[in-house]
Amino acid sequence: MKAQSFIPPQRTLMGPGPSDVSPRVLAALARPTIGHLDPEFVRMMDDMKGLLQYAFQTQNELTIPVSAPGSAGMETCFTNLVEPGDTVIVCINGVFGGRMKENVERLGGIAVVVEDEWGKVVDPDKVEAALRAHPEAKILAFVHAETSTGARSDAETLVRLAREYDCLSIVDAVTSLGGTPLKVDEWGIDAVYSGTQKCLSAPPGLSPVSFSERAIAAIKGRRAPVTSWFLDLNLVMGYWGSGAKRAYHHTAPVNNLYGLHESLVILAEEGLENSWERHRHHHLALRAGLEALGMEFVVAEDDRLPQLNAVSIPAGIDDQQVRTRLLQDFNLEIGAGLGALAGKVWRIGLMGHACKRDNVEFCLDTLNRVLADLGAGVEEGVAVAAAQDFYASAPQAALA
Ligand SMILES: *Cc1c(COP(=O)(O)O)cnc(C)c1O
Repeated sequence: MKAQSFIPPQRTLMGPGPSDVSPRVLAALARPTIGHLDPEFVRMMDDMKGLLQYAFQTQNELTIPVSAPGSAGMETCFTNLVEPGDTVIVCINGVFGGRMKENVERLGGIAVVVEDEWGKVVDPDKVEAALRAHPEAKILAFVHAETSTGARSDAETLVRLAREYDCLSIVDAVTSLGGTPLKVDEWGIDAVYSGTQKCLSAPPGLSPVSFSERAIAAIKGRRAPVTSWFLDLNLVMGYWGSGAKRAYHHTAPVNNLYGLHESLVILAEEGLENSWERHRHHHLALRAGLEALGMEFVVAEDDRLPQLNAVSIPAGIDDQQVRTRLLQDFNLEIGAGLGALAGKVWRIGLMGHACKRDNVEFCLDTLNRVLADLGAGVEEGVAVAAAQDFYASAPQAALA
């Protein structure tokens, strides 16, 4: 058998995730593997908890990375908090809300769906009406940053409503963490999950989660054990819990955790507010360029996520052809539309390490060239020029 090492190409990742991983994180991943119960590793885990608490803006003791991707963070929240017969109000305004409903139903819960159009935010009035109509509801679940459309819902208001109606909240913050304001304690979120490959710019495969005291009380007061053994937080807490004996639960993905740790160190060095501002700043530059190419955003201006720009594909232009050219000729990945938006939009990510001026200009320049080439009737160089005008008018010396 002929075996060969796999050497991936050098891409620029500007889709919905994974995003470009910083060389510092890649270097951390390559450090020597040590035992997952080694005292030095345990020290790193304690440190990691503090860094995650900072990223989530929480003092929650139960703030840990689940050893699996964002979808497993989602399942961790639902499988621990939903019991058969529980009513959960699930907001759907894109792909990921639909998966929440699936989770609830597979657990024997009753999903009450509050639906909003793709590209729109979750409507707090509809949520309040559902809460009023369902006093038996135990949980309100919604997606903060809907990656399928680029809409940012008002998590603060939605969580406040959940509290007013005596519900727990489950919030999907996979794409928001690190890229857009998220304040777990100030807003009073009970259960939140994220991912490592979006604005944290670590490789995929881990899911930071955080649970409030109220959520933990609900888990401890369950009528029946959690049906998933692997995701049962009562067991996971024995490994990650403070003062826990660090009993063996599963073998932690040691090197991947080094990578996440380093990405959180980078975030702390920059400062969370600076990271949010950097994402906003470069988003505005990208926007100027995309609009110069005649593209329109799916989401209304005030509701846009800076890190996920969903824009209309110009009339007569073939989605796949453009993305293939970007990848083959320029090593640039942008995202396709999902579900209802497939073939109609592109999703351009500006996440974490990938969110920088060089990338904004590179993406606009290549897109401009390919579109001009395919006869989209755009003038050469207009997109980058528009972004440069923005940068000149809104200088941010501190930002890369
Ligand atoms: C990416 C994403 C997920 C799923 O994360 P995976 O790591 O792919 O499992 C869930 N929710 C949202 C909003 C996402 O963007």
